[in-house]
Amino acid sequence: MRNYVSSFAASFIVLFALVVGTVSQPALAQEVEPRWSIAIHGGAGTLDPDKMTPEQKAAYEAALQNALDAGKAILSSGGTAMEAVQAAIIPLEDDPLFNAGRGAVFTWEGRNELDASVMDGRDRSAGAVTGVTTIKNPILLADKVRTESPHVFLMGEGAEQFASEQELETAPPEWFATERRLKSLERMKARQLSALDVDHKFGTVGAVALDLEGNMAAGTSTGGMTGKRWGRIGDAPVIGAGTYADNRSCAVSATGWGEYFIRVGVAQEICTRLRYRFRMDIDAVQSVVPKDADGLPTYIIHASEFPLSVESAQEEADAVMAEVKDLGGDGGVILVTPEGHALYSFNTTGMYRGRATSDGVNEVAIFAEE
Ligand code: ASP
Repeated sequence: MRNYVSSFAASFIVLFALVVGTVSQPALAQEVEPRWSIAIHGGAGTLDPDKMTPEQKAAYEAALQNALDAGKAILSSGGTAMEAVQAAIIPLEDDPLFNAGRGAVFTWEGRNELDASVMDGRDRSAGAVTGVTTIKNPILLADKVRTESPHVFLMGEGAEQFASEQELETAPPEWFATERRLKSLERMKARQLSALDVDHKFGTVGAVALDLEGNMAAGTSTGGMTGKRWGRIGDAPVIGAGTYADNRSCAVSATGWGEYFIRVGVAQEICTRLRYRFRMDIDAVQSVVPKDADGLPTYIIHASEFPLSVESAQEEADAVMAEVKDLGGDGGVILVTPEGHALYSFNTTGMYRGRATSDGVNEVAIFAEE
């Protein structure tokens, strides 16, 4: 029913528009086709078109399209947003081009310690893991935490023990370790550089989706930042910072300098802003709905009856990313909204990204100007 604007609600909206004159485009009673949408990322950062060969660019684009296709196939055949998010993330975790699963960055001690999280917008159920070293696809473990444990966030050995009880596939250290990432660590140590100096980009992966039922989900997976030490945890597995989904507002996955994303609470901040942007209008319209004999409203207006414009959603995401920048951080986010908008916002020169919708949108891009 959420995809129908009821004529009952519409008449109040029209009434409200006439009386108060602040709703410029009252929603009319009409059927709206169910929609799906998906957005993915493979990290943001200082990406320079002159420093990437056409072959490298094509390889990244093919990997992004492959992940997008996996998510699209699920959504277009009526699968859930949560299934689509995981289907899109798994190939990115398996691909050494990205800093998640295979190809993850190294810690100061020379290990690959993986973080991942998922959240379901239907009931805000969430699962997250940090510091796991043997799980082939950490995103699947995060989901098991969500569905099979009474907890939200597991770490290290305990998380691995839980994974083994859930019979999740494991892989030896060699599976995750790549020459390129090891070199980054060595350069960092030899020249006392920062993680950003050696990597120039964050290669975390993530996906967000809206399914035909109107449900949203988000997931993020990463190796963190090169040379991380002392058990450092970034934003990716922190619900509210790197990942958030709530059917009342949006689903978000982030990539960037995790410390800043945690401080701003980026993913939840974007969702909360969108939710309140809905609610201001809804409260106003609700106030003109006639009351029954008991003084209760005769009709409860639902957020889905007020579509949020793509411009408004973009504005809120950009405002939150501006806060990250003001504090000195950088990176980007992807988001989907209940209306089917699939958006990006980033304050770096590029972000590996892609999006597709049931309206026929299909794109992958890397540099800001694309
Ligand atoms: N956000 C991740 C972290 O701070 C890094 C990334 O996005 O690649 O761990």
